[in-house]
Amino acid sequence: MLTIDGSRGEGGGQILRSALALSLVTETPFRIINIRRRRSKPGLMRQHLAAVHAAMDVGAAEVKGDQLGSRELVFRPTTIRSGNYRFSIGSTGSCTLVLQTVLPALCLAPGPSDIELEGGTHNPFAPPFDFLAYAFLPLLERMGPGISAKLMQPGFYPAGGGKIRVHIEPTPRLVPVDLHRRGKILDYRACAMIANLPRHIAERELRTVAQSLGWDPQHLCIEEVAHAQGPGNVLSLKIISEYVTEVFTGFGERRVTAEQVAQRACKQARAYMSAQVPIGPHLADQLLLPMALAGGGSFRTMSPSSHSKTNIEVIQSFLPVDVRIAQIENKQWEIWITKNEEGYL
Ligand code: ATP
Repeated sequence: MLTIDGSRGEGGGQILRSALALSLVTETPFRIINIRRRRSKPGLMRQHLAAVHAAMDVGAAEVKGDQLGSRELVFRPTTIRSGNYRFSIGSTGSCTLVLQTVLPALCLAPGPSDIELEGGTHNPFAPPFDFLAYAFLPLLERMGPGISAKLMQPGFYPAGGGKIRVHIEPTPRLVPVDLHRRGKILDYRACAMIANLPRHIAERELRTVAQSLGWDPQHLCIEEVAHAQGPGNVLSLKIISEYVTEVFTGFGERRVTAEQVAQRACKQARAYMSAQVPIGPHLADQLLLPMALAGGGSFRTMSPSSHSKTNIEVIQSFLPVDVRIAQIENKQWEIWITKNEEGYL
C-alpha cells in the first residue's frame, strides 16, 4: 500500500487533504504516517477529521485511525458517490479546506452534487470564501466542471457558524489549461467585512488601502455581517484582470491593529501586481492538483511556496506526472505539469 509521510516538507494538513483527494479520484488506497508532524499540535485536529469523514462519505471508504489526535490513518476508497452532502466542520474548522478535499472527486463523479458546509468561511491560514468563489473556482471551471458556490452566512474564526452551499456539475475528464498571462487589470475592489465589531475598524482598513495602493473610494466597500456567531473582520482585495481574478486577504486578529491587517493584505497585492503574473502563491499550490489530474497544464506565478513544493511531492506519489519549475524573470516562475513516460491517466 502507498505510504505518505505527513512530516515531509511543509508537514501540515494539506498533505493529508491532497492525499485524500488524490486517493478518491485514482481509487488508490493509502496509509499516511506522521500526520501534521511539523505543526505545534500534530495529528488530526477537528477540521482534518472532518475532511477525512467527508472523503469517507464521498468515496464510500473504509478508514482506520480516524480519531482526534491520530497521527496515522489508513484510507481505502471504493466508489465515488455524487449526490447531496452536508458536512459540519465545527466552530474553528474551515469549510473551504474540507470542500477542497472532496471537490476534485465530485467534479469527476457520475452525476451532479450539492454540498452544504457549516463552520468557518473566513479562517486564517485557509482559503477564504471570496478567494474560493472569485479566484479558484473560475479557474477550475475552465478545466471542465460547472461549479457555483454561495455564501449563505459568513463564519469567522474561532466562533464559526458560517455556511456555504456548492453545486457541482461534473465533467467526464478535466482538460489541461495554460495560464501564462494576466492581461490588463480591469477592475479592483477592497471589501472590509466586520461582524460584531465597531465600524471604525473597517473604515481604518479601507483608509490604509487607499493610502497604500492608491485605490479610489468607489473601489472600497464595507460589509457589516448580520447574525454572526462571534466577532470577525476580514479585508479582501480583489484584482480582476483580463484573464484571471486574484484575491488577497488580511485577517483581523486580537492585538493587531486595523492598519496592520490592511498592510498585510496590501503587501500581498502589491507583490502580485509588481510580479505581473496571473497566479499568486495560494492559487499556485491549489491549482497543481487539478492540473495533475487533467494530465497537464502550466502557469506563470511568483516564487513557489513550500506548500507548492510539498504538494508536488504528494501529487507525484499518486500520479505519473512530471513537474518542471523554471525561473523566467526576477519575480516570475513557470510551472509545467506533464504526463511522464510511464504514465497514462
Ligand atoms: P495545519 O493546521 O496543519 O497548518 P492546515 O490544514 O490549515 O494545516 P495547510 O497545510 O497550512 O493546512 O494548508 C493551508 C491551505 O490554505 C493551503 O492550500 C494555502 O494555500 C491555503 N491558504 C492559506 N491562506 C490562504 C489565503 N489567504 N488565501 C487563499 N488560500 C489560502
